[in-house]
Amino acid sequence: MKLAVVTGNPNKAREVAACFAGVLEVEHVALDCPELRDDDVGEIARGKAEFAYRTLSRPLIVDDTGLFVDALRGFPGSYAAYVQKTIGNAGILKLMEGVTDRSARFETAIAFADERGIRVFRGILPGTIVTPRGEEGFGYDPIFAYEGRTLAEMPLSEKSRVSHRARALEAFRAWVEQDSGHGLPGDRTVNRTKNE
Ligand code: IMP
Repeated sequence: MKLAVVTGNPNKAREVAACFAGVLEVEHVALDCPELRDDDVGEIARGKAEFAYRTLSRPLIVDDTGLFVDALRGFPGSYAAYVQKTIGNAGILKLMEGVTDRSARFETAIAFADERGIRVFRGILPGTIVTPRGEEGFGYDPIFAYEGRTLAEMPLSEKSRVSHRARALEAFRAWVEQDSGHGLPGDRTVNRTKNE
């Protein structure tokens, strides 16, 4: 059995596959999960994972991402999807006109569900809000800079190494590699054999 990556966003599924290349077999499952409203992306991811596991009954991950802008007291936070759909990047930049403190962070929570329950792993990427640059990626990528470049200026292979999602996936992967009872394919035994 493969690890199901449950998301309606094929970009995310590609990032997860890139992060786990050669480590875990992953399969994109495009199931729409209802989202709770909560200020914490971890709670939202947990709720989506509960729903997805009830529906699919197989090991899976779901994620939820927020963008937290310091000068806007954390707005849009976990409401990032709604804000992206409504005012978009142009709206965020408008709110930031004349603002000197450009600092922001992405936070992703990955919720893993299997027959034992749900575990949440988090990753945070600090950065700054800038005028749009770059053609890659999706969502807020063109206006979010990390170490001098926007995420939209990075090829997928690079974003998949440094991003908030990559950091959450890294935490998940470290747990998978420690946890001999997880029953997933491509587990550490298989991996080690491959790497030796
Ligand atoms: P969701 O929680 O994954 O639905 O993401 C919330 C919002 O943040 C959506 O509008 C996404 O397009 C955006 N978003 C999620 N991940 C990223 C990312 O890696 N880069 C830029 N925007 C993202």
